[in-house]
Amino acid sequence: MKSIGLLALLLVASAAIADDSSSVEEGLVPAEPCTPDTKCELPNCRCSSTNIPGGLLPRNTPQFVTVTFDDGINVNNIITYRNTLYNRFNSNGCPAGATFYVSHEYTNYVIVNELYNQGFEIALHSISHRTPQTYWLEATTEDMKKEFGDQKIQMAHLANIPYESIKGMRIPFLQMTGNASFEVMKEYDLEYDCTWPTTAHTNPGLWPYTLDYASTQDCIVPPCPTASFPGLWVKPLVTWSDLQGVPCSFVDACFFTPDRTDEDAWYEFIVTNFERHYLGNRAPFGFFVHEAFLSAWPAVTRAFVRFMDLVNNLPDAFMVNAHEVIDWVKNPVPTDKYKAQSCRRFIPTNCTPRSCGPLNSSHNGMDYWMQICNVCPRVYPWVGNPLGL
Ligand SMILES: [Zn+2]
Repeated sequence: MKSIGLLALLLVASAAIADDSSSVEEGLVPAEPCTPDTKCELPNCRCSSTNIPGGLLPRNTPQFVTVTFDDGINVNNIITYRNTLYNRFNSNGCPAGATFYVSHEYTNYVIVNELYNQGFEIALHSISHRTPQTYWLEATTEDMKKEFGDQKIQMAHLANIPYESIKGMRIPFLQMTGNASFEVMKEYDLEYDCTWPTTAHTNPGLWPYTLDYASTQDCIVPPCPTASFPGLWVKPLVTWSDLQGVPCSFVDACFFTPDRTDEDAWYEFIVTNFERHYLGNRAPFGFFVHEAFLSAWPAVTRAFVRFMDLVNNLPDAFMVNAHEVIDWVKNPVPTDKYKAQSCRRFIPTNCTPRSCGPLNSSHNGMDYWMQICNVCPRVYPWVGNPLGL
């Protein structure tokens, strides 16, 4: 009798433990819902919402446009970046921004250094960018440390850019990894994630928010975070609508699009998506794309350039580095005040280019050559050995 009672107690106890661990992993605090009495205030806390930060009216809110490119940076795709992004200015006289989510394999770090010194944002997109996508779905915190925490160290070292300048990340295939990626962000002092798409909050659009409290964002590519991460920002990918109304996170992933040789139709397609933001709640508008798509379709590139020209001529729209959007949301000011602020500053760095190779890689036995701004590594830098020591 006594032993049955004890067994029942043990079962109840273990069920309670199982319940806890099903929401968050050990050592993490479950995120509580954000309610009207929740104390969460800028600059360091913001609940997920389509409300304009600072309670501004749409007409007084700067319309931010973030152009981002993913994956490796090399001698081929830099041509497009130089041709389309360099020497471009917003209506406030400040240089236009763009953000590069860089993956390590085949990346030329001398060119990363060049992009950084042009004032663009360098962010993380993993060391391996490996397939299959399920690798990322199942990735543990330890895996994510080796892919992103180590990549921050690697990027700063090989491209010779300040460690502190690297603030953002995007996971390959936009595959969320639950709490794991955010644990790594906390540990490695990363400030925002730009992986999480929303199709439910596009009109009005979802603004960036922190993970102090439970997110109300739709989880398109689960698992999404369930724990509380005070001060870590989510910059949602507010999806576009293609010609049939099907959502797409990346411009090159839109399915029902105008003919890719029809510049005018593409220009209109881009502007129609932009207007949902500009004529709505002015949630930041993203142009998320891979360079290969632009170089394959010159008419689309011309439409993209025309769109940037349009934005750069609008008095209240600004093409900025993704991180600058987070900066603004922390301290939201109306457009007239924003325009009076000084332009972004960064610490220029130099690069003494070195060509290194052949460098053997332990993961596939191949030899690689690298262009970097530091002493040559012994082997090809990879997951678990980010500096190639
Ligand atoms: Zn990618």
